[in-house]
Amino acid sequence: MDRLDLAVLGGGVAGLTAAYLLRDADLEVFDSAGYIGGRTRSLQQPDGIWLNTGAQYVSTDRIKVVELADAVGAKLLRDDNLGEYWRGLYPGDPDTRSEIESCIERISAEQMQRRPATLPELDDVAFDQWLGEVSPDTHRFFDRWCQIMNSGSSVEISLYGALWLWGDQRSTPWSDRPVSRHDRGDCVFDGGTNEFTKALARAIGDRVSLSSRVASVREADGGYTIEVLGDRGTREVWARRVISALPASVAAEVIDELPGWKQQALNAIRYGRFMTMNIVVSAKDARPTSYPLTAARSDVAYNLDAFVIRTPGNFDERGGCFHNIVGDPTARVIWDDPDHTIKTGTLRELFRHHPEYRERVVRVEVQRWPYGMPLYSVGRMKTYEQLAEPVGGIHFCGDYTWASNMEGAALSGERAARQIRGTSA
Ligand SMILES: Cc1cc2nc3c(=O)[nH]c(=O)nc-3n(C[C@H](O)[C@H](O)[C@H](O)COP(=O)(O)OP(=O)(O)OC[C@H]3O[C@@H](n4cnc5c(N)ncnc54)[C@H](O)[C@@H]3O)c2cc1C
Repeated sequence: MDRLDLAVLGGGVAGLTAAYLLRDADLEVFDSAGYIGGRTRSLQQPDGIWLNTGAQYVSTDRIKVVELADAVGAKLLRDDNLGEYWRGLYPGDPDTRSEIESCIERISAEQMQRRPATLPELDDVAFDQWLGEVSPDTHRFFDRWCQIMNSGSSVEISLYGALWLWGDQRSTPWSDRPVSRHDRGDCVFDGGTNEFTKALARAIGDRVSLSSRVASVREADGGYTIEVLGDRGTREVWARRVISALPASVAAEVIDELPGWKQQALNAIRYGRFMTMNIVVSAKDARPTSYPLTAARSDVAYNLDAFVIRTPGNFDERGGCFHNIVGDPTARVIWDDPDHTIKTGTLRELFRHHPEYRERVVRVEVQRWPYGMPLYSVGRMKTYEQLAEPVGGIHFCGDYTWASNMEGAALSGERAARQIRGTSA
């Protein structure tokens, strides 16, 4: 049996950050996927166009992500598109807009009143309930916004969650004090978000075992025995210490004999599914294409934001990729549909918004994320503090322990690394 000082379970931003900060240890990262980086997965074409199938933007409050990116040599590109994503959600009708504006004023007022997260009026109230009797278009605006930002509907997300998501300070629900920011503006990773996690993996000497699913973690001989299922059968590894950077429910399932309070906290995390449909289009003067359309549902919103999320640059000159994301309410309906219908529904929406691309589609991909995002769901904050509590020599990180974005994942990985260093001292 292989023996390690540290086993890191899960090779997303959280696990790779922890591994990077503890890179001097005798460690190995195990991930069930066939690629590095979890929800930062992106694909690259030979022509330089990339397809982000998961995480997209590094907004100005993502200080830790930028610090890590600089340290491992992942290049960030300025992209001001993020500020514009409202454009795709905003309704045309002026009365609805003014109703939305008045709701935004109420949200901003709540963000100025810092209070404990667990207060029932924050944590136990669905955001939709707090909005009250608003017009269907205003309801749709906020519901779609919740889906894009956190994959869930405004019925599932608490008022506290909505305060966390709204505005340009998504690292905290509060705006009563200035939020720390980096000076690069809103950014994306050059070449796709995966370039960030690949660079982290390189910086730890590629000690990442892919296609290696952790099936169980058991206490043994003053450490832990980890059962790993891989392409070539089962491998048993002993590690003195463990960092779990797995999705919450997976951690609850594979780690044996967790105390009740920890099981309860992990199982309280609810994930919303995400689906990404990437559409690559060619430059304006390229040879015309005819992408095959088949069948699609008539009552499904295959697009929420009028295709605002996309690679930077001039599509007419170089082509580019639309990163179309739908949240759990849509994913629940189309999850098991064949890909060709999902592609067809998405393309019909693209052609409705942008007929100029009708003969320029060269590639469409569909990515399903069963653990799309930890929802800021009603009641979530009750067990929040327990999520990052170590159990024996097992430490926990992942965006679900902090905030549902790359910054939350990176900060949680840093915290796990600090805990490990504290126990070694
Ligand atoms: C469509 C989409 C868009 C997003 N957009 C943004 C954005 O614009 N900006 C932003 O900051 N964030 C965004 N996010 C969120 C961001 O991607 C995540 O918060 C972050 O990447 C989570 O990192 P993590 O390490 O906590 O989890 P993950 O990346 O999910 O890592 C967990 C890892 O565990 C592995 N695993 C699971 N089960 C096992 C097992 N049994 N054994 C071994 N390994 C296992 C998985 O393969 C995975 O690699 C987006 C997410 C999605 C899905």
